[in-house]
Amino acid sequence: MTVPLPYRVVDRAVETHDTATLTLEPVRQALRPFAPGQFAMVYAFGVGDIPLSVCAIDGLRLTHTVRAVGAISGALHALRPGASVAVRGPFGTGWQLAGAAGLDLLVVAGGIGLAPLRPLVCEALAAPGRYGRLNVLIGAREPRELLYAAEVGGWPAALTTVDRPDARWRGEVGVVTTLLDRAAFDPPGTAAFICGPEPMIRATAGELVHRGVDPDRIRVSLERTMHCATGHCGHCQLGPLLLCRDGPVVTWARARPLLMVREL
Ligand SMILES: Cc1cc2nc3c(=O)[nH]c(=O)nc-3n(C[C@H](O)[C@H](O)[C@H](O)COP(=O)(O)OP(=O)(O)OC[C@H]3O[C@@H](n4cnc5c(N)ncnc54)[C@H](O)[C@@H]3O)c2cc1C
Repeated sequence: MTVPLPYRVVDRAVETHDTATLTLEPVRQALRPFAPGQFAMVYAFGVGDIPLSVCAIDGLRLTHTVRAVGAISGALHALRPGASVAVRGPFGTGWQLAGAAGLDLLVVAGGIGLAPLRPLVCEALAAPGRYGRLNVLIGAREPRELLYAAEVGGWPAALTTVDRPDARWRGEVGVVTTLLDRAAFDPPGTAAFICGPEPMIRATAGELVHRGVDPDRIRVSLERTMHCATGHCGHCQLGPLLLCRDGPVVTWARARPLLMVREL
């Protein structure tokens, strides 16, 4: 849907000092259903619109976790229940978890990257027996930046690490790839799903390939500035790809050579 539809904020949950999860309900008509990994363009009236991934699949509702980093994300983060926004979507490719049936699953998230991976984890947990072993590896800069802490605590096989521990932190310290040694997966029979800062994606995907995971079975979600979200404006171009249309989720086999090219 390229025409924005009005939605109302019906819930706002504080996740961290700069991040909140907004639940939106359609005022009249709802957008088509979203799949895990897809995104919406969410418009803060009078400020602008930005891409936000869906962080839950919940009927006609849309749920987005937004981190305030600038003007538009800051305006959306500041909204309270009752406020209105306009939303376009669904856009982009999804994680396509169904194609990983029978394989071990390795979900690797860095920071806000857990938001688009959360509905994938929920989908996998809701279908026990369809997949092999599920591993969720989560990295954050600091303990106070960990998302969905209560929910993640209930996920079996979720491992968490932080770059900079505080005095109360008793868990792992280090980059998220350090958790790979503790994950139970058979590399040739594994599908991996990665979202986070680009250096983290490169390091994780590279390490997985080194350990024997097929680059065609590694899916990464890439971020570029997006404006139209319909493959016309070109802001999100990566080589031959327009990431709003051909991404944001692409295989590592496809992404790796494109990310090796230095952008001017
Ligand atoms: C497909 C997709 C899904 C996304 N999903 C989410 C989500 O679920 N939750 C969320 O909080 N954010 C998400 N983002 C990132 C979000 O869109 C940006 O944070 C937002 O566009 C920033 O706009 P702004 O006006 O608030 O800040 P700006 O003033 O535009 O930027 C503030 C700072 O953020 C940097 N920045 C801006 N846009 C991006 C970007 N796309 N990638 C990396 N750095 C950026 C700028 O370089 C600058 O340093 C997603 C981005 C994409 C492309």
